[in-house]
Formats: sequence, structure tokens, C-alpha cells
Amino acid sequence: MSAVESIDAELTELLRARGQRVTSQRLVINRMLRSRDQHVTAEEVLGAVTQTLPGTSLPTVYATLELFEQLGIVRRLNSGGGAVLFDSRTVDHHHAICRDCGAVQDIDDPAELSGVLQAARDAGFAPDRAAVVVDGLCAACAAAS
Ligand SMILES: [Zn+2]
Ligand SMILES: [Zn+2]
Repeated sequence: MSAVESIDAELTELLRARGQRVTSQRLVINRMLRSRDQHVTAEEVLGAVTQTLPGTSLPTVYATLELFEQLGIVRRLNSGGGAVLFDSRTVDHHHAICRDCGAVQDIDDPAELSGVLQAARDAGFAPDRAAVVVDGLCAACAAAS
């Protein structure tokens, strides 16, 4: 099986398990996310798939990304500037986000956040997970300033 075929097969299995239809839009958007392996906006996804799927609209892309989030194959990342990014890397990790250019860098560190989660529970919140966002300047912006 080629890489694309196994990516398609994986998504097909997940969708069928949830009683969801397998559509070409879902397959193509998933392929794009797996091939980029980085943090993308819905607009970037639309721009990348629009050649393959000319009829695709932004609301369809958002709906697909939300479905992928429910399937656990994409995570939503609220960056400081208000843009919502979608992360195809679903293992626990943290992010450093540049306040100037918006660049996002994965940060891998086994940060001990159980105290944060407990404080959230104490406040009556039912947390899914906790992750750290480091604010500041990326290397390029820090060098230019
Ligand atoms: Zn920057
Ligand atoms: Zn990430």
C-alpha cells in the first residue's frame, strides 16, 4: 500500500466506525494535513485543496476540520492573534507563538501540568488537557529587532 493509500484507509476506517460518510473532500483535506505536518489555518487548507477540489468552500473546510477534531486526528490551537490553527500532530506537546509574525514552533517538554488541571477541576471545569503557550519573538523576529 502506498503512503497515500494507507492515509486514506486510516481515515476511511475512522469515518466508518463513526457512521460518517467517506467523501473525496474529507480524503483530500486529510491528505493535505498529513503531508504538511504543521499548523495550518482553514484558509490555508482551502488554498491547498482548491485545485484538486474546485467546489470546496470555507464552511466545508471548517466542518471537515471540526469532524477531524472529533475523530482525534487534528487538534485546535488558538494562537494569540485570534487565528485558529489546526495541528495534525496529536501527541501532547506545547507551542511557542511569535507575537510579531505569528510563527508557531512545537515545544516538546514533559511539562508537569497536573496542578493546573487540578486547579481547573477545583473551579468546576472538566478539562480535556492542558498545554503551554509560550509568547514572545521567534528567532528571525528577535534577530531583526
Ligand atoms: Zn516571528
Ligand atoms: Zn503543534
